[in-house]
Amino acid sequence: MAGPNSFLSSAPSGAVIDAGIAASPHPPLHLRADHRAAIEQLARAGYPHEACGLLLGRHERDATRLARITHARNLATDRLADRYLLDPRDYLAADEEARRDGLEIVGIWHSHPDHPARPSSTDLANAWPDYTYLIVAVHQGEVVDLTAWRLDASNFVQQTIEEDS
Ligand SMILES: [Zn+2]
Repeated sequence: MAGPNSFLSSAPSGAVIDAGIAASPHPPLHLRADHRAAIEQLARAGYPHEACGLLLGRHERDATRLARITHARNLATDRLADRYLLDPRDYLAADEEARRDGLEIVGIWHSHPDHPARPSSTDLANAWPDYTYLIVAVHQGEVVDLTAWRLDASNFVQQTIEEDS
């Protein structure tokens, strides 16, 4: 089981995980337009480095709903182009903020500079069972794709994104 010290992740190097297209057992992620815009803006601003942050909200029976998103420092200074190591201080601050407001950390977003929006083997190795993993593909500085993933047993399955206005 991964712990708070293992936020290391990476973009695909070589083989892309076959995540499959089976129906997700998880309810959809409801993504508001302003949250999406904020994540995309941070992903573009971070390019060509990986940007990352936390998703605060609630896993409800019928949907994962976000209340806000945060931006976290990427501490993977030796591999900024294809790794993220979410600063534990930013994680703890977000966790405190979530508890204070009756929310929980429901996931992590991060960008894949010049790589597809699919989880890498490092993403899989470091994934937590109850988190939504939102991945933003940034190609040449522009956002080209955004996907969500949940861990099901030992593999990622894509989580449907429903756009909320
Ligand atoms: Zn990744």
